[in-house]
Amino acid sequence: MESLVVIVGAGPSGLAVTACLFLLSVPFVILEKEDCVASLRRKRSYDRLKLHLTKQYCALPHMPHPATTPTFIPREQTSTATWHASG
Ligand SMILES: Cc1cc2nc3c(=O)[nH]c(=O)nc-3n(C[C@H](O)[C@H](O)[C@H](O)COP(=O)(O)OP(=O)(O)OC[C@H]3O[C@@H](n4cnc5c(N)ncnc54)[C@H](O)[C@@H]3O)c2cc1C
Repeated sequence: MESLVVIVGAGPSGLAVTACLFLLSVPFVILEKEDCVASLRRKRSYDRLKLHLTKQYCALPHMPHPATTPTFIPREQTSTATWHASG
């Protein structure tokens, strides 16, 4: 019998798990109480926010930041922003 993984929350952690399960062809459903992914970044952070850690510590699995990404990533260039923009 195949199991279905339930992921609660579409923040960076939930999206990271989602990417890994997808690539392993493990079935999953992701539940998010807000109407978007990365709700902390999208709804509860200020426009001028830059991540406090350098970019190599802030990438999602299988989604490295391009070389052109600034070392301290602005809010709209985070991995979760890219994920959201890609649909
Ligand atoms: C100013 C600032 C700077 C930061 N800089 C960095 C940085 O440089 N690098 C870094 O790695 N991190 C940084 N962080 C922290 C970063 O925001 C968190 O590490 C990250 O958001 C944690 O991701 P998460 O998915 O675990 O949790 P969250 O982002 O909190 O996501 C949890 C998700 O679960 C959803 N949820 C909660 N409860 C339920 C429920 N019962 N049912 C359904 N959905 C639910 C929420 O709506 C949310 O979308 C920073 C944070 C701040 C505030």
